[in-house]
Amino acid sequence: MNATHAANADADSHSAISTSKRGLIQVWSRTLIPTAKEAPADAEAISHKLLARGGFIRRVSAGVYTYLPLGWRVLGKVAEIVRQEMNAAGASELLMPALAPVDLLKETGRAEDYGDLLFRFTDRHQRDTYLGPTHEEVITDLMRSAITSYRQLPLNLYQIQTKFRDEFRPRAGLLRGREFVMKDAYSFHMHIEGPGGLNDAYDAMYRAYENIFTRCGLDFTVVEAEAGPIGGSASHEFMVNTESGEDTILVCPRTGYAANVEKCEIGRRKEPGKGYFNGDPLGDLEEVHTPECPGIEDVCKLLKTKPRNMLKTVVFRAPELEKWIVAVVRGDHDVNEGKVRDLAGSRVELADAAAATKAGFAIGYVSPRAALKVENVIMLIDRDAAVGFDDEAGKAMYWVTGADKKDFHVKKFNWRRDMGAALDDASKVKVADVRNAMAGDPSPRAGGAEGVQLEAKRGIEVGHIFKLGVKYSAAMKFEVLDDNQQRRPVIMGCYGIGVSRTVASCVEMSHDDNGIVWPAAIAPFHVIITPMDVDPTSKAMEVACKLSGALSEAGMDVLIDDREERPGVKFKDADLIGIPVRLTIGDKALAEDSVEFKQRTDAGKGSLVKIGDVVRKCAGALG
Ligand code: ATP
Ligand code: MG
Repeated sequence: MNATHAANADADSHSAISTSKRGLIQVWSRTLIPTAKEAPADAEAISHKLLARGGFIRRVSAGVYTYLPLGWRVLGKVAEIVRQEMNAAGASELLMPALAPVDLLKETGRAEDYGDLLFRFTDRHQRDTYLGPTHEEVITDLMRSAITSYRQLPLNLYQIQTKFRDEFRPRAGLLRGREFVMKDAYSFHMHIEGPGGLNDAYDAMYRAYENIFTRCGLDFTVVEAEAGPIGGSASHEFMVNTESGEDTILVCPRTGYAANVEKCEIGRRKEPGKGYFNGDPLGDLEEVHTPECPGIEDVCKLLKTKPRNMLKTVVFRAPELEKWIVAVVRGDHDVNEGKVRDLAGSRVELADAAAATKAGFAIGYVSPRAALKVENVIMLIDRDAAVGFDDEAGKAMYWVTGADKKDFHVKKFNWRRDMGAALDDASKVKVADVRNAMAGDPSPRAGGAEGVQLEAKRGIEVGHIFKLGVKYSAAMKFEVLDDNQQRRPVIMGCYGIGVSRTVASCVEMSHDDNGIVWPAAIAPFHVIITPMDVDPTSKAMEVACKLSGALSEAGMDVLIDDREERPGVKFKDADLIGIPVRLTIGDKALAEDSVEFKQRTDAGKGSLVKIGDVVRKCAGALG
């Protein structure tokens, strides 16, 4: 940490209340908080239900929401935490446009890679235009015109901005929107190691992310991740630990190793006693007619077998190698494209059905035997699929696979008999880890301890950091002279946080039967005051005004519920919107010069607190 970082870090207050600033005071009747008893019919996720019912968000169309005043305040508080931590880590904020010319994406090939995810249209001058799903190209374009010397680097620039992705299935309110708020940062370096290098910036971002999500009150796991379509060499995801998450992560209980399914390695698997592929056939190969069976489950039903007895064969193309890559896994497993790519040692893409058919693959009915007929094939067989004899059952494996012709499968496939010596050509056939890891698989990092199994957990991806390398700078010719007067592409990293998704994740994690339970740091208001008598001339309102002034002076944001509603309704709403502290001002308490103090997390009734002690009591409770 250099001097600037240290100074920034000191200046940032990490408590939920900023004592240097007056808090906001609002009255309920003069703002828009349309609470509702019922959640919208399309809401399944609890965060979607509660944010809608609490009057935080309102749907405009699929995956597109208005942030109402309460929602906007929470979003602002999360954004402010993000901003403080990014600034403290030495990054500078800017704002790029959401609208950009598709020509920029064409420079990196992403105009095509994004496909339908991209919101794309032509403007009135017929210019191909898009709404940014992320901003690597826009910032690289900026940097190549602004940076000429290595002396201007390293730099880390970020923005907090609206992103657009035409998600196939927008769902769960703010968790997966088509328009959402992201913090995206991009770092630029001349080298990877050492001070000022990419690794330094990456580690600083890693720590900043830990601070951000901790301050938001989230329980999270950092997992190793695949770089995905953005490309690059290393990446981590920040996953909120919640059963409702749509991502599966795998964790080694012994070492804490955690990875998402796309990335997770599998530890040493037991080899079959007779070696791979070996085992006598169970009988003659039998061809069966399997019409209208598009999926493995359908074939299994028809043939009365289980997915674990099927061989699933997926055909990839490695364009640079000019080869077909045929991946074989068990029917109950999933092919892992990243592992296929690594084993092939080259970029791979799912084979184009027409091209593969022309080459001789009966797509949908491909068996390992296709590799014997088609030219230029490399076959990658998962360890669990390359078994000829089932040691547990004590008999040969019963395999069902495609018949290499439409609408037909074969039963009693036998590796040795049906593939012969082709299996022994190590340049064409590899037995390896080809599939996604699952719970129960041996841990890859148990420090040599046998029997330690991976455990599965669910999570929500709130942040993602990548070491990009020169993917964008090389494609877009962002090169600068280094200290040897050599032109070199700049080394980049990129770092994203789903700011609006973080808001929803906080609700997923922190709620009860009555509503949201906001952590104080991101609550829309710290304190809600509920006067029993809302007549402006009443004693209760007078005390409410006085108290809100004093609380605001101490840095707390206060909402006064001045509605003419029954107390029961107001208490229910206060719980629903999740304000951390409620102060109720009724005659009985006032007679004792007190108000009723209750934290959102307290069960039952509150306790009486002397009016003079309220500020101290609230500040203490809010930490
Ligand atoms: P996912 O796998 O969930 O689709 P992603 O990996 O495509 O997300 P990134 O490109 O890594 O997303 O974007 C950075 C961050 O933006 C993600 O970690 C996530 O928190 C957030 N994000 C991505 N897509 C959405 C979305 N549709 N709605 C809300 N937040 C999103
Ligand atoms: Mg991601």
